[in-house]
Amino acid sequence: MKRDYYEVLGVSRDASPEEIKKAYRRLARQYHPDVNKAPDAEEQFKSINEAYEVLSDPEKRAAYDRFGHAGVSGAQAAGGAGGPGGFGGFDAGAGDFGVFDDLIDMFFGGGRGRRADGPRPGRDLRLTLTIDFEDAYFGKTVDLDLEKDDVCDACGGTGARAGTAPKACPTCGGRGTVESVQRTPFGQIVTRRTCSTCGGSGRVIAEPCPACRGTGRVRRKKTVKVRIPPGIDEQTELRVAGEGEAGHRGGPPGDLYLTFRIRPHPRFERRGNDLYLEQPISFLRAALGGEIDVPTMDGKARLTIPPGTQSHTVFSLRGKGFPDVRGRGRGDLLVRVIVRVPSKLTERQKKLLREAFPDEDDGGADASEGFFDKMKRAFRGD
Ligand SMILES: [Zn+2]
Ligand SMILES: [Zn+2]
Repeated sequence: MKRDYYEVLGVSRDASPEEIKKAYRRLARQYHPDVNKAPDAEEQFKSINEAYEVLSDPEKRAAYDRFGHAGVSGAQAAGGAGGPGGFGGFDAGAGDFGVFDDLIDMFFGGGRGRRADGPRPGRDLRLTLTIDFEDAYFGKTVDLDLEKDDVCDACGGTGARAGTAPKACPTCGGRGTVESVQRTPFGQIVTRRTCSTCGGSGRVIAEPCPACRGTGRVRRKKTVKVRIPPGIDEQTELRVAGEGEAGHRGGPPGDLYLTFRIRPHPRFERRGNDLYLEQPISFLRAALGGEIDVPTMDGKARLTIPPGTQSHTVFSLRGKGFPDVRGRGRGDLLVRVIVRVPSKLTERQKKLLREAFPDEDDGGADASEGFFDKMKRAFRGD
């Protein structure tokens, strides 16, 4: 005598498809012969599958509702409602892969405490380079010799022995996530979590690559070409994408981060993108004005000195400073002129100066005179 299908699943006759599915999942987990060792578990499991196969199909359910077991006996035979311990009733017929996940997870994964060992991103590397002032200004391509974890050539980074490939994870069926259903007084709670067997990758390695012991990476020296952009400063971190350490088992590589120490320049001082320069000029040029040459990072530039320029006056040469590292224009070159006064004058030059600038004499004794000269002048009374 066959039991009523609704009774088997413990649902009412007007249960919704969703309720039927939930009841089925719960019972299938409970009675699966691999977990339930009671003598009648297998028989129960079979009935549960059979009941679900009929009640989950609107046509078969309608036939069952009208004619009872007689109404669906043919369909049931054709459908093959799951042999002992088999999964026949789970697949395409019911279209319910979620159940499949749960069961596989229970039998092969999760509780057994397998180590999650899927792909993981590689570590970032950080490095400080000391470069010349000119290199910061013009930019430079440098070869960096790094010792780092790199992609294993033998397995191409997958971690699987050459000639083999990672297989679909049996725990999650290759999806990377598993669903678990909990019964609570308020109903069932379905939670999805990352598969612990494959770490979410959906793949597992049956035969690890011997060269990298299954990690997909090996330690070695590698030369990395890096383009330092013009205008780099000590505050800017340069990111070289993908040049960190290789990922674990095909995970994405880390990045390489570079910071810079810039050697000082003998003449130029940098503040932001502006350059500062102290330029000596003669007292004649300062007094008379004219054009002078000043050095820039790119060669010489002409600077106009107006007549009567005082020492320490600052002139600006637009756009002759550092290029902006992000390409937003350039700084200026600020030239501070230092008026150079001759340190040695002949008697004739002294005389001419006193004659030319009588108003400039501030009344003090000339320091270039020796002590005895001053004494003689004092006695002469001039
Ligand atoms: Zn390898
Ligand atoms: Zn998995």
